Amino acid sequence: MKVLVINCGSSSLKYQVIDMDGEKLLAKGLVERIGMDGSVITHEKIGDDKVKTEVPMKDHNDAIAQVLAAVQDKDHGVVASMDEIGAVGHRVVHAGEKYAQSVLITDDVIKALEECIELAPLHNPANLMGIAACQKLMPSTPMVAVFDTAFHQTMPAESYIYAVPYEYYEKYGVRRYGFHGTSHKYVSQRAAAMLGKDLKDLKIITCHLGNGASCAAVNGGKVYDTSMGLTPLEGLVMGTRSGDLDPAIVSFVGAKEGLDLAGMDTVLNKKSGVLGISGVSSDFRDIEEAMKDGNERAGLALDVFAKRVKGYIGSYFAEMNGCDAIVFTAGVGENSASMRAKICENMDALGIKIDEELNNVRGEERIISAADSKIKILLIPTNEELMIARDTLELVEA
Ligand code: AMP
Repeated sequence: MKVLVINCGSSSLKYQVIDMDGEKLLAKGLVERIGMDGSVITHEKIGDDKVKTEVPMKDHNDAIAQVLAAVQDKDHGVVASMDEIGAVGHRVVHAGEKYAQSVLITDDVIKALEECIELAPLHNPANLMGIAACQKLMPSTPMVAVFDTAFHQTMPAESYIYAVPYEYYEKYGVRRYGFHGTSHKYVSQRAAAMLGKDLKDLKIITCHLGNGASCAAVNGGKVYDTSMGLTPLEGLVMGTRSGDLDPAIVSFVGAKEGLDLAGMDTVLNKKSGVLGISGVSSDFRDIEEAMKDGNERAGLALDVFAKRVKGYIGSYFAEMNGCDAIVFTAGVGENSASMRAKICENMDALGIKIDEELNNVRGEERIISAADSKIKILLIPTNEELMIARDTLELVEA
């Protein structure tokens, strides 16, 4: 079966067509500037050059129509007609406590996801628009929703309850949910395969370090703890997000700068993180360059980022009473050998020792720990789309 995977944002959309017979990627693409001037689709049939087409797209219906046209295009397409697409898998960010697993999309599922909008106001509406557009244009194709929060639903209450009045959890669902679950699940499964062990017998700390970043403590295949919380703002330092801080900073800086709660929300989500510290960029490549050119604050941003990841590794090591493997994934985790080395530096007391030479690699599945490192360190490129396609196939076949 061929599966179309859709990851829909508010003004952009990523897609892939995967032939599940052999799990072969056939095509992928990106739509940008949906509903704005200059909307553009970049489509790539695997093995061919990318084709970039500017075409007006006033909404997500237009964007999905362009995606369907691209995958059926006589020159660059990968299917003769949409009948060849057996199912569509949608990435959905927040399912609250409603779903611990992927689900076939029904009217009831849509209603449940609409109820989660207040927990993810930036993401869920866009995800729902993508689903509605696909349903309109492919009314008889089954659709599956795969949630960023689902994998983390195995967390015990001691990991997800915040120390605020318990009634906020009961009334408003204020708790830790965690995100990037599809990625944490994929890399923990791959880690077990690479180590030739059963996931049930492993304690793994997965570090998804991209523009958004989170760690997870995966014990026996179940999430025990994760660093993102009610929203994707908590935890690690990120491209533009602060991660953990003293909550009193919100009222203190708000009063000084004359910012209301929404203003502070913007500061913490969009102007903080390594961008806020360095003043250079949210992109780690720019910051690493600036540091090499002698920019001290760029160096400081990288130090603060690495120290926070170290802290979570230590904390999860303690929480799980040990650790067999640490996994690095996502943009920074896969590509920045220097950041992986910085994080693992001076961790030999915990039995963590990276091999400089093995670590000198980008985007390749590989064990990068030294032979005498008690804890294995793995570099595993994430593949959320494949996980979405696998769940989609499984649910549709069932
Ligand atoms: P993601 O959110 O997983 O797509 O990751 C995006 C981030 O990966 C960007 O902010 C980049 O800074 C970072 N990244 C990509 N390539 C490199 C690289 N070669 N070195 C350092 N960081 C990189």
